[in-house]
Order: sequence, then structure tokens, then C-alpha cells
Amino acid sequence: MTPRKSDEQTPVAPGPALSIVLPVYNEAENLPRLHQSILEGVSPLGQSYEILYVDDGSRDAGPQILRELAAADPHVRVLFFKTNFGQTAAISAGIDHARGRVIVTLDADLQNDPHDIPMLVRKLDEGHDVVSGWRRDRQDAKLSRTIPSNVANWLISRVTGLPLHDYGCTLKAYRREVFEEIQLYGEMHRFIPAYAYWAGARVTEVVVRHHRRVAGASKYGLTRTVKVLLDLMTMTFLHSYSTKPIYVFGGFGGVSLGLAGMGGLFVILRRLFMAGDWMSPLILVASVLFIAGIQFILMGLLAEILVRTYHESQGKPTYALREIVGGGPASEPAA
Ligand code: UDP
Ligand code: MG
Repeated sequence: MTPRKSDEQTPVAPGPALSIVLPVYNEAENLPRLHQSILEGVSPLGQSYEILYVDDGSRDAGPQILRELAAADPHVRVLFFKTNFGQTAAISAGIDHARGRVIVTLDADLQNDPHDIPMLVRKLDEGHDVVSGWRRDRQDAKLSRTIPSNVANWLISRVTGLPLHDYGCTLKAYRREVFEEIQLYGEMHRFIPAYAYWAGARVTEVVVRHHRRVAGASKYGLTRTVKVLLDLMTMTFLHSYSTKPIYVFGGFGGVSLGLAGMGGLFVILRRLFMAGDWMSPLILVASVLFIAGIQFILMGLLAEILVRTYHESQGKPTYALREIVGGGPASEPAA
């Protein structure tokens, strides 16, 4: 997500209170009932809202239905992707273009229930920045979906330090400020709460309804769990060491050089005092470790250059402020 792009695109109109963002891929049969359900869902809030459907290159009748919805209802905006870029890209695009002060994401297949939206928004108003849905009574295949997902959630909670029961639930509500520092890749939409938490956001979860898919087909299988785990690894690494990569690579390099030194010393001592041979497998191992150690350190220095280029060229701070208090109104510069 490009930070704050949406502000540049819509400089005049102040945003609505609420943006509902939905990734849509071949959900034609669900769309009419879904839209009806969203309208029922948002009306109890009595707030201004917009509905953003992001069509992820659907090849069914969906795009036509979405055009009709947009023509009939000014609350609706539709973004059409040129081709299928995946659910995370769709969510990301929706969030980029959302104008609301609060952003709610949910799936377009009616497995998430739009009638839960007011509950999430109210929870947000209690003083949270992110409210994540928990499909406690999940209506998906046990063996291929629910169980792998439980394992993944346990692991993600351990690794990120933010315990949530259901990272994979798309139904979540966010204050828009949450997105100022977040960029999404791969299967990463599910990790937004963790990123937000690392940046200091207040994150909580609520139990939401979940329904069996009645129309259309699921787009995923077990392979997604593997992708999720790889994403978890990448993001944890990038987070923990993104501002100081030399600490990681330098650490590996140091250990490697240390082992090389011990191996080399052992060979020298054995030669001097025990009449051993210079040539031994150990000297080869020590040489390899020595070269690897130097490589690690050089890699760390290269990574440092990359990180600095990243932060400095984009003016990205290495911290996140919640607010600034005091100082009075900006004073006129002294003449
Ligand atoms: N989706 C998408 N692009 C894709 C795959 C899925 O936008 O490439 C949307 C899909 O239309 C649905 C949501 O993402 O609104 C979740 O997809 P699905 O129901 O297949 O996932 P599951 O609920 O089985 O995890
Ligand atoms: Mg689904």
C-alpha cells in the first residue's frame, strides 16, 4: 500500500465515516445477496459510508453485476483489476482507495456476515485501532482448513507476540491511520494486525459469525498454509532486523569466523605439539567457515546500505508517533 495516496486522489471531498472493502473473484452468484446484506449491516450505524468492491479479474458475470450496483447506488465504487492479482492485492488496492476514517474489510462470498459490521465499528470506538474477527464456529472443512489454520494461528501468535485466534479472518475493522506505515505482499493481508501492533496500535478481537459457502467455490487449498508460513518468516525477519540487518548477518559472520579460528588454531597446535599433519579435513572446514564468515559480514553491510536507501529515499521514519501534545498553534515565523 502506498501511504496516503488516497489523500492526493481526493483532495476536496472529506471522506465518509466508514469504508467497506471487499475482494471479489468470481463471486457473481453471491453479489446481489451480499450487497443487500451490506446495506442491512451498515444501516443501524447511521453513519456515512462507501462500499468498495475490488474485482480481482473475475471471469464470470460479476463485473457486469458490479457495474450495475455502482450505477444504481452512489455509495458503491468498484475497482477492476486487469487480471487476477490475488486477495491480498485486492484488499490492498481497496484500502489505498478507501476514504473512510474507519475501514472494514470482509470477504465477498457471504462467509463473513456483513451484519457484524456495527459490532466491529463499536468495538473500535471503545478505543482500539484494530478489531479482528474470530470465526470461533468456523464453517469450513476441518482437516484441510480449520486444523491447519489453528496451527498457523498458534504459530503466528507466538512469533509475532500478538495472540489472536484467527489471523485468517478477513472481517476486520481498522482506523485508517493504521495503514500509514504498512506495505502488503503475498498472503500478508492477514498480518495487518501484527504489523499494526508492532507500530504501536491497540489491537483486539471479537467473535464473529461465519457461514458455510453456499454459492461459488473456494479459491484456496492446503498450499496456502505453506505460503502463509513463508510470509510469516519473511515478515518477522524484516520486522526484527529491518533497521539493523548487520546485527543478524554480522552475528552469523562472527560465529562462522570464530569457528574458523578455533579449527585453524587446533590444526596449528596439533602440528606443533602432536606432530599432526597440516593437511586435514579440518583445515578445509576452517577455510570454508572463514570465507563464509567474511561473506556474511559483507552481506550485512550491503543490507545496511539497502535499508538506509529505503528509509532515506522515501523519507520513512524509523519510528511511529501517536500524537503530539502542546506547543500551541503554529506561530508566525519571526520577521
Ligand atoms: N479472492 C480474491 N482473489 C483471489 C482469491 C479470492 O479476491 O485470487 C476473494 C474471494 O472472492 C473472496 C475472498 O477473497 O471474497 C476469500 O476467498 P475464498 O472464499 O476463496 O477463501 P476461503 O474463504 O475459502 O479462505
Ligand atoms: Mg470464503
